[in-house]
Amino acid sequence: INSFFQPVQQLVQLYTQYQQGKAAIGKIRGLLAVRSSVAQLPSAVELPPLFGRIVFEDVTFGYDPERPVLVGLNMDISPGETVACVGPTGAGKSTLAKLVTRFYDPTSGRITIDGHDLRDVTLASLRTQIGVVPQEPFLFAGTLRDNIAFARPSATDDEVWAAVDAVGLRELVERAPEGLDTPLHERGQSVSSGERQLLALARAFLAEPRVVVLDEATSSLDLRSELRVEAALDALLEGRTAILVAHRLSTAMRADRIIVVDDHRIIESGTHASLVAAGGAYAAMFETWAAHS
Ligand code: ATP
Repeated sequence: INSFFQPVQQLVQLYTQYQQGKAAIGKIRGLLAVRSSVAQLPSAVELPPLFGRIVFEDVTFGYDPERPVLVGLNMDISPGETVACVGPTGAGKSTLAKLVTRFYDPTSGRITIDGHDLRDVTLASLRTQIGVVPQEPFLFAGTLRDNIAFARPSATDDEVWAAVDAVGLRELVERAPEGLDTPLHERGQSVSSGERQLLALARAFLAEPRVVVLDEATSSLDLRSELRVEAALDALLEGRTAILVAHRLSTAMRADRIIVVDDHRIIESGTHASLVAAGGAYAAMFETWAAHS
């Protein structure tokens, strides 16, 4: 999983070096395209503004083609729908998320977004319209504002505050000695794990992507922080297409649809209520979870 976001961390280092505004972003986007393990076709077109329908058509993928991680996946996600992906460790949930952002191409089959095969569009136009919230959100040495407005450095103060409010961080920012201009220490060591997640959600919120791909953090939070993160998540996902890699069933339960990935496939798909009623793998997971919480 870490290797998924490693390029991003490298970008962040670059970003701190070249913080002079938009020129830097151009360089970063260029680098993103180069660093990706996939190639952009010379005929690639700009992805038009998205509605956000994502379709997997018979998608098979393995890091090593001899050992497929996902086999024959079919899934149709409607604009605005939130799909949570659950299943055992190593089942391929994060891999599925990486395919949507085109960090890898399927070995066979195809993935489309609003009918465009991901391989036919420019990487920059794809990735600027998909907000990725990584499992371990990265913060860098810069101000709170820099960290929140990372994907949209031109955002106004009002816009930054709107994002701060949307995720319930106003109190944190107001408490900080210089408000939005307060510098974060190297890699944000001064903020708690919950605050780090909220800052990542504020960053995604400000970027206003039509599609959000979120790999939920595994670090455990106290109840109050967890409730704040859940509320922030609701604000971020409202009206957007979202794929959540859910490590907590309490997150999965909030999705419009839950898919259970196991044995290289989607073995179950439905709402929380329908899957519990069906009495299969999800119901068993839920029973275990409910017994322990
Ligand atoms: P978790 O719940 O632990 O996050 P996951 O369901 O997200 O697990 P993935 O991270 O998608 O699972 O991994 C699926 C399989 O692919 C695992 O066997 C894993 O070891 C393998 N894998 C993941 N990333 C890579 C990679 N970059 N190169 C090679 N194999 C990988």
